[in-house]
Amino acid sequence: MSQHLMQTYARQPIAFTHGEGVWLYDENGDKYLDAVAGVAVTGLGHGHPVLARALCEQAGKLIHTSNLYRIPKQEELADRLCALSGLDRAFFCNSGAEANEAAIKLARLHGHNRGIDNPAIVVMEKSFHGRTMATLSATGNRKVQAGFEPLVGGFVRVPFGDAEAVAKLAEHHNNIVAVLVEPYQGEGGVQIPQADYLDRLRAICDGNEWLLMLDEVQTGIGRTGKWFAFQHSQSLPDVMTLAKGLGSGVPVGACLARGVAAEVFTPGKHGSTFGGNPFACTAALTTLAVMESDNLLGNASEIGAFIVDTLRRELGQVPGVKEVRGQGLIIGVELDRPCGDLVKMALAEKLLINVTADNVVRLIPPLVMNREEAALLTDKLAALIWAFLN
Ligand SMILES: *Cc1c(COP(=O)(O)O)cnc(C)c1O
Repeated sequence: MSQHLMQTYARQPIAFTHGEGVWLYDENGDKYLDAVAGVAVTGLGHGHPVLARALCEQAGKLIHTSNLYRIPKQEELADRLCALSGLDRAFFCNSGAEANEAAIKLARLHGHNRGIDNPAIVVMEKSFHGRTMATLSATGNRKVQAGFEPLVGGFVRVPFGDAEAVAKLAEHHNNIVAVLVEPYQGEGGVQIPQADYLDRLRAICDGNEWLLMLDEVQTGIGRTGKWFAFQHSQSLPDVMTLAKGLGSGVPVGACLARGVAAEVFTPGKHGSTFGGNPFACTAALTTLAVMESDNLLGNASEIGAFIVDTLRRELGQVPGVKEVRGQGLIIGVELDRPCGDLVKMALAEKLLINVTADNVVRLIPPLVMNREEAALLTDKLAALIWAFLN
């Protein structure tokens, strides 16, 4: 391994050369079933021919021109995302953290515009919003923050899933401008709140003139079986951030906003050199088009339900398994003990899985996974967890 990479990751000693659908091939030609999808990124699966062709064609024409000029593909992508979500305007960037930075800046500027000089944003315990200074400060995980103090101020934290705790804040704070929350927490261990959580947060935000800002970086773009996770509720957010699945691995993030929130940024207030370039927008537009033509939302719902049902049947009564939960193709198997070793055990069985929050096996496979592949995944995983616990 090269000695010239900064040691930010404890990587598995394996490299892939190519892929097809839910399969990845390593340097020895061995084939792995991928239930990670580049951390909820490659929804179309690997080596998708329609995406490959669109990207080759766009790369040959134009990759980048900057936001000093109009970018028709960016306008088309904004129109498409707004039509799918019901929001009004989009800002494009290159990652989830950047999308959340945009949302945080938008909320603060909105506060200042309303005469609130020290605006605060409500955030959740166990949340994950990224690794930049503002987003790691918003993140509810001390491991992400430790060593990087002083943190960015202006965040007020409450437990995830507790709408009452958010409502109570209004009694003691007059400087809150927004609530930033993941509809389902991904890095926090696939945490799924009560079905009415977002609707209750929406009502609290409406009652206090706060913006409801959803971090859908992981849950957006079909992961939960809807285009966006908020579409499982009755409510629209004021702001929504996207990244992971949006460009199928070509870096692209977005911060969408609605109503007054959509009018907060004016020229000079925010920007990005790369953000929304023709190449990245082609990746996103093609991703959305394939998802629609191939009914990947329906597939994510169906295959996700099959995986959860199967794992509940096989593991539900096994001592040491606390819960199997999921929505679409974001699925967690919570154990009663740390289970990071399962990643290596699975690798030996040619299966790629991820463990998050120490004791939750997280499955976030490509949205193209079929039933046969899902059955193989559940068979292998159930056997691995059984072996791990015994
Ligand atoms: C991954 C993730 C981020 C950070 O995205 P990056 O592209 O790594 O900056 C932010 N929020 C959520 C919910 C995520 O899952």
